[in-house]
Amino acid sequence: MSTIEVIEPATEQVMTEVPRAGIEEVDAAVARAKAAFPAWRAVSPGDRAGLLLDLSAAVEDCHETLAQLEARNAGKPIGDARGEIEMVAETFRYYAGAPERLLGRTIPVAGGVDMTFREPLGVVGLIVPWNFPLTIASWKVAPALAAGNCVVLKPAELTPLTALELEVLALDAGLPEGVLNVVAGPGSVCGRRLVEHPDVAKIAFTGSTEVGRGIAAGATATIKRVTLELGGKSANVVFADADVEAAAAAAPSAVFGNAGQDCCARSRILVERGAVDDFLAALQPAVEEIAVGDPLDEATQMGPLISADQRETVASYVPEDAPVAIRGRAPEGPGYWFPPTVLAPVANSDRAAVEEIFGPVVCVIPFDDEEEAVRLANETIYGLSGSVWTRDGARALRVARAVETGVISINSNTSVRVSTPFGGFKQSGVGRELGPDALDHYTEVKNVYYATEGS
Ligand code: NAD
Repeated sequence: MSTIEVIEPATEQVMTEVPRAGIEEVDAAVARAKAAFPAWRAVSPGDRAGLLLDLSAAVEDCHETLAQLEARNAGKPIGDARGEIEMVAETFRYYAGAPERLLGRTIPVAGGVDMTFREPLGVVGLIVPWNFPLTIASWKVAPALAAGNCVVLKPAELTPLTALELEVLALDAGLPEGVLNVVAGPGSVCGRRLVEHPDVAKIAFTGSTEVGRGIAAGATATIKRVTLELGGKSANVVFADADVEAAAAAAPSAVFGNAGQDCCARSRILVERGAVDDFLAALQPAVEEIAVGDPLDEATQMGPLISADQRETVASYVPEDAPVAIRGRAPEGPGYWFPPTVLAPVANSDRAAVEEIFGPVVCVIPFDDEEEAVRLANETIYGLSGSVWTRDGARALRVARAVETGVISINSNTSVRVSTPFGGFKQSGVGRELGPDALDHYTEVKNVYYATEGS
C-alpha cells in the first residue's frame, strides 16, 4: 500500500506517513460497517448512550495528545487546538443524550393506533476537510452513531492523524468492531467511491462549495441522503451606533481565527460610513499585535496556512495594487505564513469581497444605511454566518432576521455551540449540524399503523 506524507505546515517537514487508502479499502470499510449495522442498531438506547459517554471520556483522557497532533498537523495554535478537542469530547457527551430521546409520535387515526419511529439509515459516509479536522468529524460521527448508524469517515488527505486516532479510541472505549471505520485517502478516489457506493445510505460532507456540488450530483444515482456544509463569505455588520471599539476588538478573531481558514470567517466587514475611520483606528493595533508563529508556542494566536498551494491562492487576493490598510506580522523562513491583512475600502463586487479567500484577508466595505447594509450582506452566493453590531435592539433583530444566513450573532462573534443548529442558507449548504436538528439528518421517519378494530 502506498503512503500519505503528512506535512507540518509550520516547518514544511514531513511529520509522519500513514497508509493511503484506495477504492479497495473503502469497499472493505463499507462492508465492515454494513456487517456491524444490525447488531449496532439493536444495542439498547441506554447502552449506546453509555458507549458514547465512554468515547467522550477516552477523548478527554487523550486530550493533550490529540491537541498536539492537531496543532502540528493543521498548523493551529495549541490553545485553539485544546479548545477544539474539548469540543469533540463535549459533542460525544451531548449526543450520548440522544439515543434515549429519539422520540416518535402517536397520531389519532380511525380503526387502530398510528405511531412513528426514528430509524437509523444504515451505513453513512462522512467526508471532512482539513481546517477543523477532528471537531467537524465529531459533529457528524456523534449524531450518526447516536441514531444507530455505522460510519465510514474520510478525513482530508492533509490532516488524517486525529481521525485515525479516533478510530482506535472508539475500539478501546468498547464500540463494536466495524461501527466506526476511518479511510484516509484522496477525495477524488475514496470520497468519490463513498458517494457512489450502493451500500452507503447517506453522505454528510463538509468542504468547498465546488466539491459539494459534485457530491450532490454524484449522490443522485443511488438517491443518497446528502447534507452539505460548504463555503462562506459572511458579513460582520457594524453600525455607527454600536460600541465600535468592542466591534473592532472582536473583528480580528472573527476572521483571522484559524488563519482565516474558517467557513464562518466574517471576511466582509460592513461598516457604516461615518464610523469607518474610528473602526479602522481601533482595528489597527488589534491586527498588528496578533502573535503569528509556532503553533506549539503558548503565546501564538495565529499559525501558518495549511499548504503552499493555499498560501498562493490567498496571495492572489492581495496583488501589488491592493488597498492594504493594515498588515500584521508573519515570521520569515520555512512555514506557510501569511500576515493578517485588512483591505479598505473595498467594493462588495471586488473579487476579494466576492470569493471565499480562506486565509487571513478581510475586506472593509462602507455602507450608508440599514437597507444598504442588508442588501450588501445578502449580495453573495453564500449564507453561513455573520454578526450585527448595534446598540439599537430593534435594529439588531431586524437585521439579524433580514440577513440570509444560517447563523448570526448580535454584538458577538459566536457561530457554533454544540447544542444549537449550525448550517448554511443558499450555496453554503443543505441541512444542519449540531443541536437536536442534526439527528433529523441521520434518521428516517417510519410510520406504523396497528389495526385494533379488524384490518
Ligand atoms: P475540499 O472540498 O477540497 O475537501 C473536503 C473533503 O472532500 C476532503 O476530505 C477531500 O478529500 C474530499 N473530496 C475532495 N474531492 C472529492 C470528491 N470528488 N468526492 C468526494 N470527496 C472529495 O475542502 P477543503 O479544502 O478540505 O476545505 C476547505 C473548504 O471547506 C472551504 O470552502 C470551507 O469553507 C469549507 N468548510 C465548510 C465548513 C462548514 O461547516 N460549512 C466547515 C469547514 C470548512
